[in-house]
Amino acid sequence: MEATLAPQPRSRPTASTSNEVSETLARRLRAETAGDVLFDAPSRGRYATDASIYQIMPVGVLVPTSERDVAVAIDIARDLKVPVLPRGAGTSQCGQTTGAALVIDGSKYMRRVLDVNVQARTACVEPGLVLDHLNAQLRPHGLWFPVDVSTSAQATLGGMAGNNSCGSRSIAYGNMVHNVLGVGAWLSDGSQVQFGPVDGLTGKAAEIAAFVRNLAIRHRGEIERTWPKVLRRVAG
Ligand SMILES: Cc1cc2nc3c(=O)[nH]c(=O)nc-3n(C[C@H](O)[C@H](O)[C@H](O)COP(=O)(O)OP(=O)(O)OC[C@H]3O[C@@H](n4cnc5c(N)ncnc54)[C@H](O)[C@@H]3O)c2cc1C
Repeated sequence: MEATLAPQPRSRPTASTSNEVSETLARRLRAETAGDVLFDAPSRGRYATDASIYQIMPVGVLVPTSERDVAVAIDIARDLKVPVLPRGAGTSQCGQTTGAALVIDGSKYMRRVLDVNVQARTACVEPGLVLDHLNAQLRPHGLWFPVDVSTSAQATLGGMAGNNSCGSRSIAYGNMVHNVLGVGAWLSDGSQVQFGPVDGLTGKAAEIAAFVRNLAIRHRGEIERTWPKVLRRVAG
């Protein structure tokens, strides 16, 4: 029998992340954040894959306890030129959470419901909150968050936003892009921005929105000609 052979998958950090950089990164994260800092091989191995076939060893993992930990980690990673890769439940199927990066896992500590406004029917949450946990807290009010991914027992709101998730009722209720009113985020330069309805954007968020809008306008012809007409695009 003749079989097709393939090279073995690589699962090591890229050559650009030296041991020295990775040790400095771990040392600084331990000193400057309150999060769990996981740089041992078994921990990195656990984070090397998600629900996809891909496998890439991360440089290390930070499990932050607060927004401050995330902001500090981004600053340290920028100083050391290490990419950062946020992660929720890791149920992505196309390798979205795999990479030779500092993985920042928000699912352990950053999972609080910060506010529910029953009249306005809005909620403000931390990104590591699991969808079923949010819906359990909304049930007494007769409300639910209607993007019903089938991984609702694991999927986090941050990961759902990152993937523009949808569900079996999305034709009626929409995807994440139709149900998320705003997102607070850090940029790689350490600045914090608030994304929301385009009309209300200010500062860097407005600049980024204008840049993306101009790209869409400039390439409109080619996008309309070549892009498949699908209901869901992961980029939102
Ligand atoms: C069996 C199975 C069934 C599925 N069914 C569905 C389905 O019905 N509908 C559907 O839409 N998808 C489905 N999926 C895909 C996946 O479960 C969803 O996309 C899910 O919402 C991802 O959530 P997560 O927390 O696992 O995200 P992750 O996989 O951890 O992350 C997803 C993306 O978001 C980014 N991200 C995570 N947290 C943050 C953050 N705090 N800030 C910025 N970016 C962040 C990550 O970098 C990544 O790019 C399914 C997957 C499996 C394995």
